[in-house]
Amino acid sequence: MSTSEPRLRIAMQKSGRLSEDTQKLLKLCGLKLNLSDRRLLAHVSNMPIDIMRVRSSDIPGLVMDGVCDLGIVGDNTLEEEELDRQLKGNKSEYIRTTSLDFGGCRFSIAMPEEFEYTGLACLDGLRFATTYPQLLNRFAKANGINVEFCLLKGSVEVAPRVGLADGICDLVSTGATLEANGLKEVAEVFRSKASLIQRADPLCEEKQAILDTLLPRVHGVMKAKESKYIMLHAPKDKIAEVSKLMPGTETPTILPLAERDNMVAVHVVATETFFWETMEQLKALGCHSILVMPIEKMMG
Ligand code: ATP
Repeated sequence: MSTSEPRLRIAMQKSGRLSEDTQKLLKLCGLKLNLSDRRLLAHVSNMPIDIMRVRSSDIPGLVMDGVCDLGIVGDNTLEEEELDRQLKGNKSEYIRTTSLDFGGCRFSIAMPEEFEYTGLACLDGLRFATTYPQLLNRFAKANGINVEFCLLKGSVEVAPRVGLADGICDLVSTGATLEANGLKEVAEVFRSKASLIQRADPLCEEKQAILDTLLPRVHGVMKAKESKYIMLHAPKDKIAEVSKLMPGTETPTILPLAERDNMVAVHVVATETFFWETMEQLKALGCHSILVMPIEKMMG
């Protein structure tokens, strides 16, 4: 492979909450990654792709500035950078190529447990510790309240206890960290997930061709995660009822069973959750040997 061949450069979080899921996604897309801790720009050995491993907060800027062609980043980090750049009059364009199915969290306002929350108006004039001041500011403006900020890059939850702020605005998933620090969630500001983003200016033909291979694989991996392959044996005269019970399936494949004239094998790909209740209903129709299996990849 010639070294001058254009390589698609993807920015991902080096370590943190998004890095494991991102690596898993890229591996399931068939990329052979060789990510050692010290290698910050890693070559993918089987595709013309390089992986740049950086801090999460650097990813949007690297894509907006065209240093990286793609990036995988949380929507909170992305929109914070976009708002910040817009405020400073800097370049802030990007394309959100795909919303991914990991990194889900809420960016929420939390107050000390003893605070009497009566609605957003009671937060007017208060001071909040946060890592994402622009997101909070946009929310405050949209709701007609004024808030002050205290910028903290981490351990935001400690701010009210040490008198730095009245409350906080931070990322929450289970709420356990808030609770452990004597805080309660009072308002959701923003709902976030990870996104695959792309630089706004067109890619050269070679890089576009790599992206055209990669994107259907990303979609295929996400679709496969939601889907299950179901196999069962069903009474021949109950096929219509059995098909009706299959959640979000395409037409089932019906196969004969050796030495069982009254039974057939039914194979289907279910694109929705397949519940125990449905299996019990199938059993009641006379089905047996019901198998529900995960699918790793899907195409077409
Ligand atoms: P870095 O350390 O790489 O600069 P970071 O401080 O944002 O970035 P993490 O705490 O690993 O690092 O969070 C990365 C992203 O994970 C967040 O920006 C958010 O999009 C997502 N995320 C999902 N759940 C949570 C959560 N409960 N708390 C914080 N982030 C979460």
